[in-house]
Amino acid sequence: MPSERRPKTAKAKQQPQQTPPPSKGAPNWQVLTLGVVLSILSALFYSHWSGLWDLSAPSPQSTPSQKSAPFMQDEVFYVVNIPGKGKGAIAARDIKQGELILREKPLFVVPRNINASPPKFIYGELQKLSPEGQQAFLNLSYVNFPKGLDPEGHPEEVALAMFQTNAVSAGENVGLFPRMARINHGCSSAFNVVYNWRDWEEQLVVHALKDIPKGKELLTTYTNTKRPRDERRAFLSQQYGFLCTCDVCSLPSDLSRASDTRLTEISRLYTDFAAWGRDGIDGAQAIEFIRKIWEIEDAEGYWSERGQLAADAAWVAASHSDATATQAWARRAREWFSYEIGADTPQVMEMNMFVARPESHKAWGTKRRQNVGGPDRSRGE
Ligand SMILES: [Zn+2]
Repeated sequence: MPSERRPKTAKAKQQPQQTPPPSKGAPNWQVLTLGVVLSILSALFYSHWSGLWDLSAPSPQSTPSQKSAPFMQDEVFYVVNIPGKGKGAIAARDIKQGELILREKPLFVVPRNINASPPKFIYGELQKLSPEGQQAFLNLSYVNFPKGLDPEGHPEEVALAMFQTNAVSAGENVGLFPRMARINHGCSSAFNVVYNWRDWEEQLVVHALKDIPKGKELLTTYTNTKRPRDERRAFLSQQYGFLCTCDVCSLPSDLSRASDTRLTEISRLYTDFAAWGRDGIDGAQAIEFIRKIWEIEDAEGYWSERGQLAADAAWVAASHSDATATQAWARRAREWFSYEIGADTPQVMEMNMFVARPESHKAWGTKRRQNVGGPDRSRGE
């Protein structure tokens, strides 16, 4: 039983619910339902992956890692049994921040809402797969199987449980990605890779959020971990059936309390920042909240969602017609979007545009002119 598997759906990454500006093109990490909450717990008990669905990796565009070397997917990580955790993905070599770790097409996707019995529907999708696809599906593990039912006699319920345990959001749909499903969950500073669905490629990509040394386990996150340990663990246990023992959840109590305090403060600051959208605070105050979030995240080691955070700051700066700050934040956003979702994304192209012509931002001049300040106070940006 994989204990530490990931919850994939309610992915915390629900990007800035906090941000006033619309997160255009931001990945959608909502939890889907199929009559049930689709959560995702990783699970994967998969021993042999044939490589069928992933990917005929169409030559990746330029993500940071691919500039110098062709992407050799199978060299990036391998899957092993991890005591107490089932399977897990281990870095096969040193991985650089921003590197593309995986691109994977779904085994299949289903709409978020279906007019059919979920067990029958999923079982029907399973039947349409090739023998290899079916095997990949059946190698997945599952949690929350209805009590009192015998799995042997209820293959449709088993199929649904596997889907619910492993599916993740894929744009408007929900999809199964067997390779990605091998990556376990970690909270806050413990997760080091992030996945995103790309509508325009119809596949999922996973990037390294941090440098990952050879031999270290790849961890991602599927829920919002910007909350205290007890809350995170209660949610993960209830939703995904495991007690999280990631590095952050395993901290000694004093350090855990300090981490909880930081995570709670980050969440609070996001809420404070949102007041800008209601004109509750001015642009300089909004930027100050963002700087504080950034600083606390540095202390915590929480690096996710920074592209969006900086893009939101650029939005604020543009609204107040602060060209220098718009450019500085757009550069910051471009850097972090590149790490987390890839340099070959609309978000990065958009930031390039704002760096070149800050006044081209659609929010430009929508609020009173003000010097709001850039990311670096000391340089007066
Ligand atoms: Zn944890």
